[in-house]
Amino acid sequence: MKGFNEAVIFTSSGIRGVFNETLTLEDVVKISSSFAEVVGEGKIVVGRDTRPSGKPIAEAVIAGLTSIGKEVVDVEVAPTPTILHAIRDLKAAGGIIISASHNPPEWNALKLAGPEGLLLDEEYYTSIKKRISKRTVGRDRPRLIGTVRTWNPFPSYFRSILDYIDREAVRSNPVKVAVDCGGGAGALATPILLRKLGCEVKTIHCHTCGFFPRPLEPNQKTLGDLSQFVISTGSDVGVAHDCDADRMVCVSEDGAVLRPDEGFALIVDGVLREKKGGLVVTNVATSLLVEDVAEKYGAKVVRVAVGEANVVKEMVRLKATVGGEGSSGGVILPAVHYVRDGPLACAKLVEILAKTKAGVSDLLREYPSYYLERVKLSYPKALRHKIMDELSSRYSDENVDLTDGIKLCGDREWVLIRPSRTEPAMRVWAEARSRQRAKQLCENMVKEVKSIISELNS
Ligand code: MG
Repeated sequence: MKGFNEAVIFTSSGIRGVFNETLTLEDVVKISSSFAEVVGEGKIVVGRDTRPSGKPIAEAVIAGLTSIGKEVVDVEVAPTPTILHAIRDLKAAGGIIISASHNPPEWNALKLAGPEGLLLDEEYYTSIKKRISKRTVGRDRPRLIGTVRTWNPFPSYFRSILDYIDREAVRSNPVKVAVDCGGGAGALATPILLRKLGCEVKTIHCHTCGFFPRPLEPNQKTLGDLSQFVISTGSDVGVAHDCDADRMVCVSEDGAVLRPDEGFALIVDGVLREKKGGLVVTNVATSLLVEDVAEKYGAKVVRVAVGEANVVKEMVRLKATVGGEGSSGGVILPAVHYVRDGPLACAKLVEILAKTKAGVSDLLREYPSYYLERVKLSYPKALRHKIMDELSSRYSDENVDLTDGIKLCGDREWVLIRPSRTEPAMRVWAEARSRQRAKQLCENMVKEVKSIISELNS
């Protein structure tokens, strides 16, 4: 069995494909055994989200790992943050998480993690890819057969969060929460965790049978059911996750679905208030709201390339107070672990609401409004690089940020263009104080790209 299926997509955040089309069980065995060879001595944790393809993929992962003598701990269905917590907890050498996050149900992916439950970065994926491409997999292995046992990762995960949250504050001012896990793995954590904190919890779409009642990406377009549910149950707040529950998006008491950035800002605000300042690390696509919040406490904001591994690396290096990817609702609270953690974000949000005795809409009212526009441009890969090169030569003054793609920064507005890591496309984001201006910034960038293309073609 040489090489692997070229259609498998290696990205900095996982190895992805459509189950049995671009991601086959044969690929999964090869990827897992190659990972086992490079990860070092020790146990490997395996876990998955609720996608129906998760079970056969987990079996293939375990086959790949045990075929070369690895000791596997299978935590079965659990949120990604819970699986990463288990890696640290068990002092494992690493882990393989089977989840395509917010992507449609027919997709699945392998996310690789190292010791301490930290997600591995792009470099690591590239080395695994080279390893699989270059050599015959499976023939030159020692004749050692590994072991596999199951383990419940939840008790210790809940304990870590409950030790961190101010339970007394929540108990003395209980919050009514509506939870929408979208049929994902968060259903096994968030409602239970919030009840342990003393919240009154109502659930919608919190089954784990592999049926998905709404698109898995939680956002303003997909959370209509939760919005209604918050109102009909008279809840103080609604919270929603993607399929592996590393994201959290919230809904205010009046049923308004917040932008992922806004929920992120509420938590950053709460943490900086408690710590009386500090340092925030987030990606280049996150709203300026984070700078507004940081300013209140004299805190610093550092921006890095999009991708959890990039954010985590910088947070560890700078000993950040709080961080994450506001653009997708991924909150990282290093007091618990360096992981985007949806259930933990919900627990912290509830603590903040209990302590401030304010509603979500009251807290949001203190923030300036921003509008975000996004456009996707599909172009062949070769052309994308030429376009990016041409754009970087056109913009070379101090208002250009080249951290990830090209970001042009103005007064309380920005436009960002970057090649997609998962599709043959480029993404344009713009944020401004009015919707019209954000649209205009996006349109101007699209026009510029189109003119470059016609120049390249002429
Ligand atoms: Mg996710």
